[in-house]
Amino acid sequence: MAKKDYYEVLDLQKGASENDIKRAYKRLASKHHPDKNQGSKDAEEKFKEINEAYEVLGDAEKRAAYDQYGHAAFEQGGGAGGFGGGFGGGGFGGFEDIFSEMFGGGFGGGGRRNRVVRGDDLRYDIEISLEEAVKGCKKDIRISTLAECDTCHGSGAEKGSKVETCSHCHGSGRIRRQQGFFVTEAVCPSCHGSGKKIEKPCKSCHGDGRVQKAKNLSVTIPAGVDTGNQLRLSGEGAAGENGAPAGDLYVVIHVREHDIFERDGSNLYCEVPISFTMAALGGEIEVPTLDGKLKLKIPAETQTGKLFRVRGKGVTSPRGGYAGDLICKVVIETPVALNDEQKDLLRKLEESLEGKSQHRPQQEGFLDSVKNFFSNLGKN
Ligand SMILES: [Zn+2]
Ligand SMILES: [Zn+2]
Repeated sequence: MAKKDYYEVLDLQKGASENDIKRAYKRLASKHHPDKNQGSKDAEEKFKEINEAYEVLGDAEKRAAYDQYGHAAFEQGGGAGGFGGGFGGGGFGGFEDIFSEMFGGGFGGGGRRNRVVRGDDLRYDIEISLEEAVKGCKKDIRISTLAECDTCHGSGAEKGSKVETCSHCHGSGRIRRQQGFFVTEAVCPSCHGSGKKIEKPCKSCHGDGRVQKAKNLSVTIPAGVDTGNQLRLSGEGAAGENGAPAGDLYVVIHVREHDIFERDGSNLYCEVPISFTMAALGGEIEVPTLDGKLKLKIPAETQTGKLFRVRGKGVTSPRGGYAGDLICKVVIETPVALNDEQKDLLRKLEESLEGKSQHRPQQEGFLDSVKNFFSNLGKN
């Protein structure tokens, strides 16, 4: 029998948004849920179809494959642990999440314990210097995580001992009970949800198949990263249950504040103090860059706060492209600790400038603005 189009099953158009898909799935799964359609074979079939469609369309990667190749994308056992498998069956990614939202975790999902449960993703926060962020670096980190038990290689059973299906729940890990109208479900008390009975549990991991271990990793941090960027180390998270694949490790970058430079995107900023004599007469100063010092020409009559751009001395994004700029802001320093002679010289200079507005480029405009401000204030 030819398979139905997954979009059709969920009553959707091909370009439907993630949210539309989730909503349609919730609506239809709720409507056709076997617990609400006691004994109806049609509802059960329909429910299976809906779950199968959502298993694919609800997952960005699988959906992309489906959009490109149709059902062929999942033939020959490519479809993540097999579809279907009875209502509430195993193998539906996202199924549990949505149903616990919908039904407060009560209904849905017998036999799901035997599905593949990927290990947890982990997060590691790392602090690096600005230089390391800009140039890239290698960092050794040590994380403590659940790793596969070396003694039993994840099976949880002692060497030579048998692992059998739990006879109480027949391997599903869950027990269903009919209580009047409702069907309730509980974790199997005999196997605690694993669906297995281990004759002799492994002594190292007490039958869990995983042990807490510290492991050392070397992380290559690409040049250009910034605070908040994440690196994903695939498969370096916690080991999965029953020998399932491990989760991923996310390394989150934090760049320490720098004494000289401040970063904004691909640009670096720094403040450079200059004397007022240099500001008036011009000259040359040395400014720091991340690759050493650089000479910067200060033109005569430079005002405080002026920005000078040094092209290409900023940061290159990890995605490539051009490097940003280094932007130097000059700040004019007021001389301190002057002796009498020096103070005298300044007074003489001031006398010679007095009353001559051509020496004070900002003064006139400022006084005008002040005048306007107060006369407008009077009008209101
Ligand atoms: Zn073990
Ligand atoms: Zn059991």
